[in-house]
Amino acid sequence: MSDIRETLEKSPRHISGYAEGAFVSPDGADIEVIDPTTEQTVAVLHESDAEEVDRAVAAARSAFDRGPWGKATVDIRQKALMKIHDAILAHLDELAVLESINTGIPLSQTRGLHIPRAAYNFRFFAEYINQAGGEVFTQEPGLMSMVTYEPIGVCGLIGPWNMPLGLTAMKIAGALAFGNCCVVKPSELTPLTVTRLFEIIDGALPKGVINLVNGRGHVTGTALVSHPGIDMVSFTGGTTTGAAILGSLAKGIKGSAMELGGKSANIIYADADFDTALDAALLSSFMNNGQMCLAGSRIFVQRPVADRFMEAFTARARAMKVGDPLASGTEIGPMINKAQLERMERYASSGLSEGAKLLFGGARHAGFNTGYYFEPTAMMAPDNGLAICQEEIFGPFAAVQVFDDEDEMIERANDSDFGLVGYVWTTDLERAMDTAARLRTGTVLVNTPIVRDLRTGFGGYKKSGLGREGAKGSQAMFTEMKTTIIAREKRNFARLGLGAGQ
Ligand code: NAD
Repeated sequence: MSDIRETLEKSPRHISGYAEGAFVSPDGADIEVIDPTTEQTVAVLHESDAEEVDRAVAAARSAFDRGPWGKATVDIRQKALMKIHDAILAHLDELAVLESINTGIPLSQTRGLHIPRAAYNFRFFAEYINQAGGEVFTQEPGLMSMVTYEPIGVCGLIGPWNMPLGLTAMKIAGALAFGNCCVVKPSELTPLTVTRLFEIIDGALPKGVINLVNGRGHVTGTALVSHPGIDMVSFTGGTTTGAAILGSLAKGIKGSAMELGGKSANIIYADADFDTALDAALLSSFMNNGQMCLAGSRIFVQRPVADRFMEAFTARARAMKVGDPLASGTEIGPMINKAQLERMERYASSGLSEGAKLLFGGARHAGFNTGYYFEPTAMMAPDNGLAICQEEIFGPFAAVQVFDDEDEMIERANDSDFGLVGYVWTTDLERAMDTAARLRTGTVLVNTPIVRDLRTGFGGYKKSGLGREGAKGSQAMFTEMKTTIIAREKRNFARLGLGAGQ
């Protein structure tokens, strides 16, 4: 495993773009891609400027307007998607190591979850399109109203750094499954696996169907979202970035799907199965180094079990193994970069200055000479108004609040700009159903940590997003709904110009 890291350090990979079925070497700025564990350069990204983005969009436009993909049979699209699925699994070890090197996420998670999920996304949509159909309404005598779903055209697909291949694969699979062509832009911080994907699937699709641009948001990203040749943007990233992209798309009246930030409540009632709720609270706060949109890091625990929870949560979190993401047994790796590490420090000090009580952590990890390591951290917050309870920290940082009254707690849980996920822990079915119904979030998970079931829609209320990813949600995102109304027999309707009384 570490020989891949050594090779990259000696000879950093060159990250470029891909258009019209070939790799291109853009003339834009060269940007170093850093391994957050070693702080060494592992790749040099040759940034796609506006000209390069134009070339990629033109390739996708031409493939969509004149190429075979939009009209390809389901069978052809299924075979292509399964080819990509198989190619990812054939490169599972390599992709997982690259992902861990680039993101700092432990190999057990990239190999066990992220990369298999990236492959599964393609299999899921290959199977889904076999069953997906339209609707026909015949209730109106003499008329047949048909609703069909057509590919939307050229999709700009922009991904984040916290699960680079898995989340971008979800977009690529959905876009291709419904007959679209696309231009993909990974995060400039984590371009390794998505770019490698393009290498390993080279030739699997007709030229121009899938294109890649690499670069920073304010250069490559803005050129892509403001390009007149795209028909929609599917974006996963921060809420502020999402709002800027929506502003740009509004000018061209373009569609969008937005998977944005979160600050999800994890509610532990006194009657919950304590040990399972504790296991899940650790996972929801610290998995993926705590850098998860759906982190359940705003913990509400009911008073009768609060002290017991705090004690056990602290002991277990202190025992977590922080280390090199490639080393076996590592449970938490470094933050993605220095800026994120400094952000953690800022939240630690803002929490304390606003009156929160430190349970554990709260500082840079002293045990490492290199790497952006922050201690797993939790604070007990006196109320929900603190910045650590309201803002997305995006790191291993939990804010715990104690509650007595159920109604008052649900009000607090909903007192958030975000509405991505809610977690509920109780053995009382009625309470579970009632709490789930009252939470203003796109997904509620009852007595289980994170589950992404692609048959369902995933997305957020409020500032957590627009649209849903998953089966029907992705279909809505990547298709235009067309209505065709056909008269099955001669119909009577008003006849103009025949003179009064006719
Ligand atoms: P980010 O918003 O900084 O960047 C995301 C992507 O947008 C990157 O590829 C970036 O280059 C690009 N970008 C930045 N500015 C742009 C612009 N003006 N125009 C076009 N593109 C631009 O987000 P991030 O830091 O990479 O990811 C973390 C965020 O993503 C967190 O807020 C997290 O909650 C969110 N996220 C949401 C989900 C979800 O499903 N809801 C999943 C994962 C991550």
